[in-house]
Amino acid sequence: MSELKDVITAYRNLSLGDRVVFYSTVTNDVDVSEETLQGFLIETRMGDDLSCLYCKGDHVVRNGKRKDGTQRFLCRDCGKSFIPSSQSVTSGTRKEMGIWIKYLKCMLDKKTLKESSEECGISMPTAFSWRHKILDALRDVTDKVYLDGTVEADETFFNVSYKGNHKNSKTFTMPRKAHKRGNDIRVKGLSSEKVCVPCAVDTSGISYARPAKLGKPSSSCILAVFDGIIAPGATLCTDNEKAYKAFSETKEIRLIQMETDSRVCDRGGISYGIQRINAYHRTLKEFINRFHGVSTKHLGNYIVWNNLIANSRRKSEETLVQLFARILSAGISVRNRDISERSPLPSLEV
Ligand SMILES: [Zn+2]
Repeated sequence: MSELKDVITAYRNLSLGDRVVFYSTVTNDVDVSEETLQGFLIETRMGDDLSCLYCKGDHVVRNGKRKDGTQRFLCRDCGKSFIPSSQSVTSGTRKEMGIWIKYLKCMLDKKTLKESSEECGISMPTAFSWRHKILDALRDVTDKVYLDGTVEADETFFNVSYKGNHKNSKTFTMPRKAHKRGNDIRVKGLSSEKVCVPCAVDTSGISYARPAKLGKPSSSCILAVFDGIIAPGATLCTDNEKAYKAFSETKEIRLIQMETDSRVCDRGGISYGIQRINAYHRTLKEFINRFHGVSTKHLGNYIVWNNLIANSRRKSEETLVQLFARILSAGISVRNRDISERSPLPSLEV
């Protein structure tokens, strides 16, 4: 991982002309289509030594093909039989890759469960579980972002929602009376019924956010969210929230804080502000509000979804198959039970 960050830092130091040369070189390297997807998965997931997707052992042999042409493998170490997309989001489903790719397109188009299930010919519960399987895998990809240059950060808040915890859990009991649906915060004041979501966005538009805790942000939750995400050479711009001071000191990241009620600030003739992060909050709220009350346990996934849409606009040259290939390569396989039994509140409670 640190090697990747070194490459990204080196890339950012290149001139614009050199970046173009570099970019056209690397994008050709990851060219993948529906026809080459299988080969891509074998290469990225099993490597040159053809290692097992289950035990990582390297005594793997080719073991015939499925009717649809998919290569089957057999591991002589653990005895398991598998295909290149085993142990991934598609595990346990018998749908063709093409339907998954179509579903991914529905997600990028912000389609509802009903619209997506009709378009892809799958049931509503299947559409719901695919949504979260894809987002879980993408979370693994988005957790590896690296924000550099001028980074604006600020937290936003959502009402706690226990939706989806009632009938599925034998152990969960409602801690309070249910509120009317809706995640938007219109009243001032931070009670323990609001989820704090620290967010950051850098000059090139890369964003990162995740639900951290209930109530006001703390120094330790800011550190837990942004550690390893904001580059050491970055300049961090925030409002006058104290929690960022400790983060900036610990990580030796330059911090510029706005005066109370001020959105811009001049340092050495350069103007810094927090407009970019405010715009990010607006887009995120608008996106979450579409769903009329997102359960707090799934809030992190909906943030990943929002960022996916923003990033796919930024990187218009990435095809759907390439994006799907990245999701499969993440090697995240989630069971339906894991989705419904997710912890009702954010895990970064500090
Ligand atoms: Zn094995």
